[in-house]
Amino acid sequence: MTATLLSAAGTLADHGESALIAAIVERFTTPQPLDVGIGDDGAVFRHPQPVVAVADAMMEGVHFDRAWSPAATIGRKLVAVNVSDIAAMGGVPTYALFTASLPKDLPWSWVLSLLDGVAAEATRVGMTVCGGDVTGSPGPVCLSLSVLGRLVSDKPLLRRSARVGQSVYVTGSLGGSALGLSVLQTGLPRAELVPSAIEAHRTPTPRLREGAALSRWFGVGACMDLSDGLAQDASRLAAASGVRLELDLDRLPPHPGLALVSPDRATHFMLHGGEDYELLFTGDGPPPCHATCIGEVVAGAGIGWLRSGKPVALTVDVGFSHF
Ligand SMILES: [Mg+2]
Repeated sequence: MTATLLSAAGTLADHGESALIAAIVERFTTPQPLDVGIGDDGAVFRHPQPVVAVADAMMEGVHFDRAWSPAATIGRKLVAVNVSDIAAMGGVPTYALFTASLPKDLPWSWVLSLLDGVAAEATRVGMTVCGGDVTGSPGPVCLSLSVLGRLVSDKPLLRRSARVGQSVYVTGSLGGSALGLSVLQTGLPRAELVPSAIEAHRTPTPRLREGAALSRWFGVGACMDLSDGLAQDASRLAAASGVRLELDLDRLPPHPGLALVSPDRATHFMLHGGEDYELLFTGDGPPPCHATCIGEVVAGAGIGWLRSGKPVALTVDVGFSHF
């Protein structure tokens, strides 16, 4: 016990790069086989074709705040948001490269917890972190993951495959992550009332099983994951497919915690909150996974919103944008 406490004390600078790499090697297990793993100039493995590749970075002050999220949840989320993109393509994650730029005054215990979080979620989804890079940072913590995956079926799920006449579906519920972030930032509504929303924000669960089921479904159209809010992401899907989506506000599945905020705020969180990491997809006939039908694909462009069966104009409010 004393040894463990001592070994987790101090800062990153006290322990140094060699100890950091040793901590990485110790934690990143290998669910997928490797010919050459961490320790050489590169990793070597055999990969079935075709390969789907994604990357997602998380920057302190932009994507997370160390005051609101424990290190292990930040590590888990880094993996989850990448794997969500793999799921949206109808893939299964296999290998990943992890890159971290870390200020030297970071507590060593924080660094170890971050690595534990990355390792835990990677292991949970059966993925091998086979390499990457670590550097110092003069400012914020910067994290990046690049993930490779194999496709479940011959064809990837794409944003451009929606066809007129199909229904539009979304998995899970919407707005929980935005509510969780709002609670962490403001303390309102009371944090103890919405633990699942805080969990949705800190540690989203990628929809791997649903993505795999959709990629085997004969009726599937287009698919994408929801990272920037339904309004913005649905517009992207519509544009990629050259169609219009008529979406019914009354049919959107709210996160249960949204009952604690005003209806307007709940709608705002569902449409623009972002970071839901649910799957938005279109298809013909009943889908092969639990999902809510929220509208139809029609001819035209853009998004139309319905309330009580009638078209409504929503004030323009874009989802998250970095620039
Ligand atoms: Mg995505």
